[in-house]
Amino acid sequence: MAPLPTYAQSRKLLATPLTAVRGVGPRLQEKFQQLNLHTVEQVLFTLPFRYEDRRQLRAIASLHNETRETFFGEVVSAGEQLTSRTRKKLYEVVVSDGSGRIALKWFHYRKAWLEKQYPVGRRGVFTGEVKQFGALREIHHPEAEFLAAGQSLAQYMAADPLSFGRILPVYPLTEGLTQKTARKIWKQIVDQFANLAVSPLPADLTRRHQLLPLDRALQEIHFPPNEADLDLLNDGHSAARKSLVFDEFFYLELGMALKQRGVLLEQGHAFQVSHLYTRPLAAMLPFRLTAAQRRVLGEIKQDMMAPHPMNRLLQGDVGSGKTVVALMAALVAIENDTQVAVVAPTEILAEQHYRQFQPWMDRLGLKVLFLTGSITAASRRKVLAALADGTVHMLVGTHAVLQEDVVFARLGLGIIDEQHRFGVLQRAALRKKGRHPDLLVMTATPIPRTLALTVYGDLALSVIDELPPGRTPVATRILPEKQRQQAYVRIREEVAAGRQAYIIYPLVEETENSDLLAATEGAEHLATQVFPGHRVGLLHGRLKPDEKEQVMQAFKSRDLDILVSTTVVEVGIDVPNATVMMIEHAERFGLAQLHQLRGRVGRGSAASICLLVHAQRCSEDGRRRLEVMASTNDGFRIAEADLEIRGPGEFLGTRQSGMPDLRVADLLRDGAWLERARQEAFLIADDPAFLADQRYADLRQALKDRWGERLELATIG
Ligand code: ADP
Ligand code: MG
Repeated sequence: MAPLPTYAQSRKLLATPLTAVRGVGPRLQEKFQQLNLHTVEQVLFTLPFRYEDRRQLRAIASLHNETRETFFGEVVSAGEQLTSRTRKKLYEVVVSDGSGRIALKWFHYRKAWLEKQYPVGRRGVFTGEVKQFGALREIHHPEAEFLAAGQSLAQYMAADPLSFGRILPVYPLTEGLTQKTARKIWKQIVDQFANLAVSPLPADLTRRHQLLPLDRALQEIHFPPNEADLDLLNDGHSAARKSLVFDEFFYLELGMALKQRGVLLEQGHAFQVSHLYTRPLAAMLPFRLTAAQRRVLGEIKQDMMAPHPMNRLLQGDVGSGKTVVALMAALVAIENDTQVAVVAPTEILAEQHYRQFQPWMDRLGLKVLFLTGSITAASRRKVLAALADGTVHMLVGTHAVLQEDVVFARLGLGIIDEQHRFGVLQRAALRKKGRHPDLLVMTATPIPRTLALTVYGDLALSVIDELPPGRTPVATRILPEKQRQQAYVRIREEVAAGRQAYIIYPLVEETENSDLLAATEGAEHLATQVFPGHRVGLLHGRLKPDEKEQVMQAFKSRDLDILVSTTVVEVGIDVPNATVMMIEHAERFGLAQLHQLRGRVGRGSAASICLLVHAQRCSEDGRRRLEVMASTNDGFRIAEADLEIRGPGEFLGTRQSGMPDLRVADLLRDGAWLERARQEAFLIADDPAFLADQRYADLRQALKDRWGERLELATIG
């Protein structure tokens, strides 16, 4: 017997291009290319999305309704007919196997071709979804294969052992590639290469979770043994699939664990909590922190006191009060004689943070400055000088804070607001501004826990899961644009009661002139025609910063009743007296964005309403999004719905691509396995032997293979 290939040799063989596989000519290769499959390994890890039970063919009399079935039959009659109600043409072929009869029906067809295919007496094997409307059951547009004259069914089946007498895998196809051919190629590749797929998981781990070895899992997922449970297979719960999913999650989380551990190993600030500033602030605040705020603040303080850098994600729904938690954390850093940087994604938001922090800082005798890309060179120089000589305690700003020449005397804590607007690189840039500073990133776009563990797996997670008391949930209504008047009526009522209103126009790109026009004209029209008696302001991304600021200030100080705006108000704006928001073309917005926008109202104790106005023509997904918004205010539920509608890839966008692609696992349904794999991965990463010991050599190599460049760990040998 030939010696087993080493791990490295196996890897090489799995990278074999499909061109080098027997039976895959240029034509087939092109089909696989269209499926984005180029190597043997890619084919192995492209799983069937469904299975068909062809262990034995069922008699026509015992077929199940509403099920895709395959059965044998002989044509007993064929011909064109008219449907009973709508009098449309259809072609009907009745087949029989002695046990019963069933009708095959076509509604779009070429008559001459069907006549030729289905002469009375021809025998074949048919596949399709069985339905029962009348007395005779039927399937529409069946797949069909025909027996040769004189051939028995047994002979026919024996000649095609890949298609009969077993559970069939069903693969994703592309035009010109049939299931039959696909099956043949997959079978050949599985037979020839699956045994090369090895995953050097520790034996005790595979035992604990009852995992199949990778090669066997691959064999069984593609060509399940006949005794397999078809329901488990089709529900994605087979042992083979669980093993593959676990394997994939395990390497993902092992990488995350090492990243987190890499951060932990660095020497960081071990802050002390002296309460010098935090206690006075708590006493000055007009409210008490909620239990959730106190809990996450405790978690943050624990991290800050530890001698290694904090790397923590603070999630909290819109309006849950993250800002004050961030300020408390900042004060802890300042109590320890270090500086704090606060970075926000837009000027409006950065400015708002600055204005929120400034009075408190002032009362505590602390100095905070503001930096964006649009301040004058002279003031910028002043800010940089004050930062460098250490007289400034806190700098609030936009991306401008991350620029190379912004140098802190001793940065102790970096805070990033609305983390989803930033990438991994910005986090790294901020971290470089100090000697292993602590990092707190915040997001009001909650992501489901499974996703958080994957995308932000290298961050510790804190969640504010409680809103401050006294909030009434925002009522949400969906209005077709024809009923826009109702929205106007509602806005007038609120304004008459001394409240304020937002009217939002979509603006895909801030540079899109046509949309800008829509907002400008919209404001013009609203101001003069719809709300002539009210004070209407316009806010959009093209205004100069000081113009924006003027409009925002006017709205905040109630000099404006109605603010017509593009989505620049989306993030973080806080005007508690605004109680109604009307969103035009709401169907065009994503769920996360709608949730953010809606979060601008309902911030005070008065009841608020959000009116989603949509165009008559509205996509299916668009409609679903609006319905989700009307059904819940819970950011986490909205995020899960978003994930379902868009799928994880789209949901995450390209921004977060710092992790390996998931080939087999499904974040939506495999969450429990992610948690288990994560636990195991963190255990191993915590074993001091992991980075050096020979017995982990293959595991380390496998980890590198899965992560590639994305795992920047010079320490792995
Ligand atoms: P977000 O989490 O969306 O950033 P903010 O920090 O802007 O939320 O807080 C929303 C509003 O709730 C602010 O007006 C803030 O002053 C107020 N707030 C924060 N914490 C509390 C609390 N514990 N009790 C009452 N109001 C609070
Ligand atoms: Mg906020």
